[in-house]
Amino acid sequence: MVKLKDRSPLTFNVAQLLREPIGARREHDFTEAFLSLHEDEALHEITGSVRFTRTLAGVYVECSLHGVITCQCMRCLQPARIAIDVEFVEEYAASIDVNSGAPLPSPDEDDVFRVDEQHMLDLSMAIREYALLALPIKPLCKESCLGLCPGCGVDLNVNACQCHEEPIDERFSALKALFDRPSAD
Ligand SMILES: [Zn+2]
Ligand SMILES: [Zn+2]
Repeated sequence: MVKLKDRSPLTFNVAQLLREPIGARREHDFTEAFLSLHEDEALHEITGSVRFTRTLAGVYVECSLHGVITCQCMRCLQPARIAIDVEFVEEYAASIDVNSGAPLPSPDEDDVFRVDEQHMLDLSMAIREYALLALPIKPLCKESCLGLCPGCGVDLNVNACQCHEEPIDERFSALKALFDRPSAD
């Protein structure tokens, strides 16, 4: 006996919808606490709604959601929280004919989203892609983040710079001493 896996709130069974005529619709609201995006980035506090419409090839998905991305501030390297709103539409191609059980031909494009063999439609991959697109190129913990001092490395949001009074960088003078040293031969 196969134990059913706990289903993610971002996964929907569309078997019944696929048995209905083209144009049939379903609407769902969803919430999910956490979705890993990419390395250090994750999407939290996800709330959204989705509308599914039966098409010839599968299911047309219209999705909008809100969430908070946690990532690293580009200036001070501390954790940053970026609120995002995402909207997307995608057509998910069916993998199996829901009435006959026969496999359907794969769509020509490789990057198309699929309804799986159990007629489950998983939004998480699409949400991941669109959430990353919504992330600013240079995420900041706050607009006014002062960042790190390039001289002494201190977090200028927390402490005053310590190198301001010493214009000569010690690492540079050590390097200079190395070059000034007479050569061995
Ligand atoms: Zn910052
Ligand atoms: Zn400094």
